[in-house]
Amino acid sequence: MSYVKLEDVWKWYKNKNKVTEVLKGVNLDIEKGEFVVILGPSGEGKTTILKIISGLLKQDKGHVYLRGKIVDDVPPKDRNVAMVPQNYALYPFMSVFDNIAFPLKVSHTPKEEIKKRVVEVAKMLRIDDLLDRKPSQLSGGQMQRVAIARALVKGADIILMDEPLSNLDAQVRVLAREELKQLQRELKSTIIYVTHDQVEALSLASKLAILHDGIIQAYGDPKEIYNNP
Ligand code: ADP
Ligand code: ADP
Repeated sequence: MSYVKLEDVWKWYKNKNKVTEVLKGVNLDIEKGEFVVILGPSGEGKTTILKIISGLLKQDKGHVYLRGKIVDDVPPKDRNVAMVPQNYALYPFMSVFDNIAFPLKVSHTPKEEIKKRVVEVAKMLRIDDLLDRKPSQLSGGQMQRVAIARALVKGADIILMDEPLSNLDAQVRVLAREELKQLQRELKSTIIYVTHDQVEALSLASKLAILHDGIIQAYGDPKEIYNNP
């Protein structure tokens, strides 16, 4: 079975008397190590899909499988899935070390263990010489690495990214995109990345999923999708 699988996933939001169907039977099979980009305009349900995979939101119908196991009733903390939020959301007053350590502190990991793991993940991402800096002293690409380090520090091998580059200025964004491609080759993690930006999607995706009207309209090699619309 694929590494991440969505099977006929439906989601509707109820507000007072109005029901909005957002996902209407999403199917998606993602292999280990793939960089999947879900492309769709704003409001199509991309964030909703990520929240359902991470367990922050429960689908109304259908099933989610991670690493071959059904996780419908598994809470977020036990899914071993990391989320890199929009704009990285680093804490500006904390050092890089404390930013990366934050998820471990929250889960009461012993101090020595925290130090070991932060240094390990920082080395892996080649930011171990930046641990004493503040986010404002980092380049865009370095900030991205810190955000990814923080996402990875608890050991997740599935990374969800919700338009992480959307509010960076254009120049930084192009660099950060190249960094991200390089990083994917190094880490070999499975990345699910959502965006409404077609150029970004085509540049990053090993597989592209087009989300429209609540379902995945096309899924596969980005070049093939755009040659056979
Ligand atoms: P995207 O990430 O593609 O922009 P979202 O998943 O954030 O889309 O939202 C999909 C749709 O669901 C939007 O129309 C949004 O307004 C609606 N929506 C999201 N969350 C809620 C909620 N908690 N209650 C009601 N509607 C919601
Ligand atoms: P994010 O923080 O990733 O933007 P949210 O779930 O906060 O995700 O919001 C996603 C979209 O859904 C936004 O466009 C927001 O306006 C909309 N939304 C969130 N909550 C509600 C709600 N209760 N009713 C209607 N739309 C909502």
